[in-house]
Amino acid sequence: MQNVTILGSTGSIGVSTLDVIVRHPDRFRVHALTAHSKVEELARQCLQHRPLVAVVGTAEAASRLAGILREQGSKTIVEYGRDALCAVASAADCHAVMAAIVGAAGLEPTLAAARAGKKVLLANKEALVMSGSLFMDAVAANGAVLMPIDSEHNAIFQCLPVKYDRRPDAHGVAKIILTASGGPFLRRAVDTLGDVTPEEAVAHPKWVMGRKISVDSATMMNKGLEVIEAHWLFGAPAEKIDVVIHPQSVVHSMVTYADGSVLAQMGNPDMRTPIAHALAFPQRIASGVAPIDLPKIGQLVFEQPDFGRFPCLRLAYDALSAGGSSPTILNAANEIAVFAFLHNRIGFLDITEMVERTMNKIDFIEKPTLEEYFDTDGEARNFAASLIQL
Ligand code: NAD
Ligand code: MG
Repeated sequence: MQNVTILGSTGSIGVSTLDVIVRHPDRFRVHALTAHSKVEELARQCLQHRPLVAVVGTAEAASRLAGILREQGSKTIVEYGRDALCAVASAADCHAVMAAIVGAAGLEPTLAAARAGKKVLLANKEALVMSGSLFMDAVAANGAVLMPIDSEHNAIFQCLPVKYDRRPDAHGVAKIILTASGGPFLRRAVDTLGDVTPEEAVAHPKWVMGRKISVDSATMMNKGLEVIEAHWLFGAPAEKIDVVIHPQSVVHSMVTYADGSVLAQMGNPDMRTPIAHALAFPQRIASGVAPIDLPKIGQLVFEQPDFGRFPCLRLAYDALSAGGSSPTILNAANEIAVFAFLHNRIGFLDITEMVERTMNKIDFIEKPTLEEYFDTDGEARNFAASLIQL
């Protein structure tokens, strides 16, 4: 029996994780559930899944949640705040942690899980982008097991040798190819991109996801963050990580080997597949996802990404090549820009400009400490936010 903590259980990934877990009551038990502010939804989840602990963001949310749960006779303990998140991610009787908080806010509890040597199911790509080297060191130093949940990285994991150890050359890995759907604006006239609304941007053609990652998919910053994520997970330099547009989202990513073989992982675009894979690895379990119907799909299309249409992808490659604190700055500025866009404070094209200006402004640190990562993250957020008023 695996005891699982889900950080961000009310989000898109959190809900999909619970959907897989309830299919296998003989294998998984929910240790803790956490949410930032959706108290009613978390209460419903607690009553259904009976975790030992539930964590919310504030004292006020905690007292509301505790009130609802008490009324229903629930025994779940309610806590709040960052320390409580870290505690449920590192608790002795928790075996696996689904890191599904969105943004850099997920870093501390995810790092706590890595430091406690847990099996870390990583959806929260921003944590890895923000402080990749420290995070990977924490995983290695504490014997944690890192399982990628992002569909592309989970696909790559499935296409790599079982004993792969982050050395592409030693395993004959020539390229990692990340597929990208191209999002909702792949074909939209470039000169109309300035006018797109948040609702148009979050309407992803293939995946149902949280609002932040949906905007990232529309700018293709999501793919840029994934290039950086792939670098840390698989030890590949930027030159060995390619992006190819594949609008059908059937091939989730590929690995090219020295002998010319290209291995791909395919499936319907449903996050329950990578979640089930990572939860049960090395076994395979039912996820609720139907297999693909190849004749119905008919053709698979692949295209080169257009950096003119998607400048955020170029910015992310630049940040990876620069290394050090550059990805931290990129990620922080992007989080502020996307938040501002979703609240109608800036236009869609301003996202790129805000990220670029912040990257040019904030001091670069080659080998940041954890404190310096947080300082840089804060400085970049403040600077990006200061641009909104202009
Ligand atoms: P979402 O917005 O649907 O859910 C986010 C969750 O994080 C919620 O439970 C929310 O309560 C919690 N949260 C938000 N801010 C918080 C804070 N400050 N402190 C604590 N908790 C907080 O997001 P999502 O789509 O489920 O994505 C979660 C993560 O997984 C992101 O990093 C995203 O990039 C990654 N991811 C998502 C998908 C997908 O299909 N949704 C695919 C690949 C990767
Ligand atoms: Mg992805």
